[in-house]
Amino acid sequence: MASYEELFENNRKWIAQKTGNNKDFFKELAREQNPEYLYIGCSDSRVTAEELMGLGPGEVFVHRNVANLVNSVDLNAMSVIQYAVEYLKVKHIIVCGHYNCGGVKAAMTPADMGILNPWLRNIRDIYRLHKSELNAITDEQKRYDRLVELNVEEQCINVIKIAAVQLGVAADGYPQVHGWVFDLHNGKIIDLNIDFNQVLKGIREIYDLTAGEDK
Ligand SMILES: [Zn+2]
Repeated sequence: MASYEELFENNRKWIAQKTGNNKDFFKELAREQNPEYLYIGCSDSRVTAEELMGLGPGEVFVHRNVANLVNSVDLNAMSVIQYAVEYLKVKHIIVCGHYNCGGVKAAMTPADMGILNPWLRNIRDIYRLHKSELNAITDEQKRYDRLVELNVEEQCINVIKIAAVQLGVAADGYPQVHGWVFDLHNGKIIDLNIDFNQVLKGIREIYDLTAGEDK
């Protein structure tokens, strides 16, 4: 584990490495950002955003919180998504959960967790929505893994409910929304292959915010 002082030494090495390949690296970086991806993931220290996708500075707009939730009254997440869609014009929004997620685990545990209660209640609600499927899984680890996946799917649906996303798709055909799970055991990204257009269609029956555009 790096000591606090080593972080600055690491930073110096990183600068040397970046400018070694391209002396104008930071000049170009400072100019603007034009990422194609918005990544919404868990704050878990083991699930890095850029590194696991092999992306560098400027390539992905990132939002992370406990258990990668997209909640309509979370001003932080909503601002990130609106900015990414309307100003950065990202082509893809990725919601990435991960197995062994402490937030999802906590939501499966009957305990008072203070300020985390209202946050984790979002996941408990997902459990309630999918109770019959989840309760039919007798293996606790498998049930936990499945809740991680269902949480990602539900957060993708929450992204699609957002007006900026619906309007973007109606006008430009993007952003596309993708649900992923990161498997800590082998480092693999698993695409849950959410049928974006089908979900969007279903969502628009009830949550349509495009005011009749493109109908
Ligand atoms: Zn997590």
